[in-house]
Amino acid sequence: MSRARGRQLIAYANKVYGVGDEVAKIPDPRQDPDVPLSLISSTLLVSGLLRVRSLNALEAELEKAWFAHAVGAEAPVEGSRLFSAETVSRQLVKMGAEGPRPMLEEVIHKAERNKVFREGWHGALRHAAIDGWEPIRSNSRHCPHCLERTVTVGEGDKKHEVTQYYHRCVVALLLGEHEEVVLGFESHRTLEQRRAAGDKSADCHEGEETAAIRLVERLRETYGRWIEVIVADGLYANGPFLSTLDRLGFGAVIVIKKDTDEPLREAHNLWAGKPPNETVEDKEAGEFIELWDCKELQTLSTFKGPVRVTRAVVHPLDPEDATEPKQWCFVSIGVAARKLTARQLLKVMRARWHIENTGFNQWTKHWPFEHVFVNNWRGMEAVFGFLFTAFNLLQLFLYRQVKGYARLKGKDPTKTIISFVAKAREDLVAAHGGPLDWQAAAA
Ligand SMILES: [Zn+2]
Repeated sequence: MSRARGRQLIAYANKVYGVGDEVAKIPDPRQDPDVPLSLISSTLLVSGLLRVRSLNALEAELEKAWFAHAVGAEAPVEGSRLFSAETVSRQLVKMGAEGPRPMLEEVIHKAERNKVFREGWHGALRHAAIDGWEPIRSNSRHCPHCLERTVTVGEGDKKHEVTQYYHRCVVALLLGEHEEVVLGFESHRTLEQRRAAGDKSADCHEGEETAAIRLVERLRETYGRWIEVIVADGLYANGPFLSTLDRLGFGAVIVIKKDTDEPLREAHNLWAGKPPNETVEDKEAGEFIELWDCKELQTLSTFKGPVRVTRAVVHPLDPEDATEPKQWCFVSIGVAARKLTARQLLKVMRARWHIENTGFNQWTKHWPFEHVFVNNWRGMEAVFGFLFTAFNLLQLFLYRQVKGYARLKGKDPTKTIISFVAKAREDLVAAHGGPLDWQAAAA
């Protein structure tokens, strides 16, 4: 890769996605601030692009000329820094998730307008996986917005109960062959936050499904109708959640885990003793797949309208391979149920793990997501907004601008992103020649 990758990445984020404009739009309630919020915000975005792992690590970078140039500022005087980590954390807490959210969404809007997602994926549809994630948990540290639960710690005589503090959110990831971008996230609200938001009858912290409903409503409101199918795990295989998706006009593919779950029980009765509707030999994947497919079941008392239930049993194609066959069951509704073959539905459903692999595992291992930048969840939500935007920009840049990246991606996209980030940083350190252009583009 050429040495100019770091500069190209930042130029691309500005020219194609207008992030300079977006950071300038984040409202700053301060009168005559010493440090413009737009500079603090561009610093946070660059920290995400370069995966700076904590506010302490960021404070060290803020003394360096190359870093100042990367965020569009003049180099600080020898022995001083652009601003302090304290200044950053104060502004993060003030802005919360609302600060960077419009920027995150605008990058997706621009990608959509630039036809990045035009081709769609299976069935030419756009599929988004949603899933719950718990990035922060502690038995000691806590902040004013923590969720709390009682957990047992210790062994034998020392066994006792303690209060555990944690934060959870539900994340939406656009699934695909190439770019898989974060579309949005919603935190579980605490009891106090629910009451403050007008939910007078609330008597506990919010559960995952309630946060997920807020998320899918926001996806529809923000992005309109180009996201067509929601893919989710067994927690969501219930009438009320399917009804929400149906009301919003989403199709859905949702895992069914328990054999006792309606409508799987009904489908099992219909399938009993019957051969599969279809069998497939997938030589490339080395799989022999049996598919049972029930369209237009009307069994859910809490969902008006038909559902489709599909069961797949995947065997190794090689008769010598003693791997146990694996069974998958899933329910689909709406456009997914109408347009996709049983085989395609299985592919979509199995891609659900991308949100754990491309997303959660990578963010936990290689990104600073689980580092507590600010001991206040409002501030952490803002950090996440910047990190997700950076994550999206990196993928868009790699797939659109770096020739051969799709091929390089191979089995381990994470490694390629990680080595790219290291090169981008080396380039910025080695070849800085003045502030990069973060000015709002001329109208
Ligand atoms: Zn907290």
